[in-house]
Amino acid sequence: MRYHWLDEYLLQKRSVTKDLQPVWNWVRYMVGGKMFAAVCLDKQNQPYYINLKLDPSDGEFLRSQYRDILPGYYSDKRCWNSIRPDGAVPDQLLREMLDQSYALILASFPKKRQRELLGLTVCGSVCSECSCYGAPCAGCNESGGKVFHAPAGKPCPIYACCVNKRHCATCKDCAELPCGLWRSTRDPSLSDAAFEADLQQRVSALRDSVCSARSVTAE
Ligand code: SF4
Ligand code: SF4
Repeated sequence: MRYHWLDEYLLQKRSVTKDLQPVWNWVRYMVGGKMFAAVCLDKQNQPYYINLKLDPSDGEFLRSQYRDILPGYYSDKRCWNSIRPDGAVPDQLLREMLDQSYALILASFPKKRQRELLGLTVCGSVCSECSCYGAPCAGCNESGGKVFHAPAGKPCPIYACCVNKRHCATCKDCAELPCGLWRSTRDPSLSDAAFEADLQQRVSALRDSVCSARSVTAE
């Protein structure tokens, strides 16, 4: 297989695990227990296909452009695709296809579960690394946004907008990110410079967490 980077590339994605399905002899890469990619091995344990999921129209287009992209072996052929591991599909295109497959499977989970799998709140914070986590704060996901610093009995304004009003998992894909609510919801103990650095770090955490399940394009 010429894509030597593939295993490391997939395992650095958030909440990804892998196993060997012994009957099929597939190395499966999963998020939240659902497979989003697999390397299919022959009896000599050599890869013969890389399986991944794509938007059906992207899959149809790419199969028409590359002879090494085939309808998914042993899978739903509308959504799954098999890539020959020693073929001519460019490395960057394969990365984009794997990114899309991960994003599609992640998006199949309820939005709260998506945030848990990403390890992020709607606004890109990491509760498990926060000194307030446990007490005084129950955490954003666990409390439905009703964190200790929100108005009594109400969710944080960012959570209310993102989850309750716009029905998004996080603010990542919002065109207004970082919006006025982001700027007005702040820890009063932070200086302006520290708040701006924290805000930019959270924006980056969200944007780097998962690609949008956007179209991939042939090179
Ligand atoms: S203050 Fe609460 S919601 Fe915010 S990061 Fe800390 S634990 Fe999470
Ligand atoms: S406007 Fe957009 S960025 Fe701001 S809180 Fe709502 S979803 Fe998030």
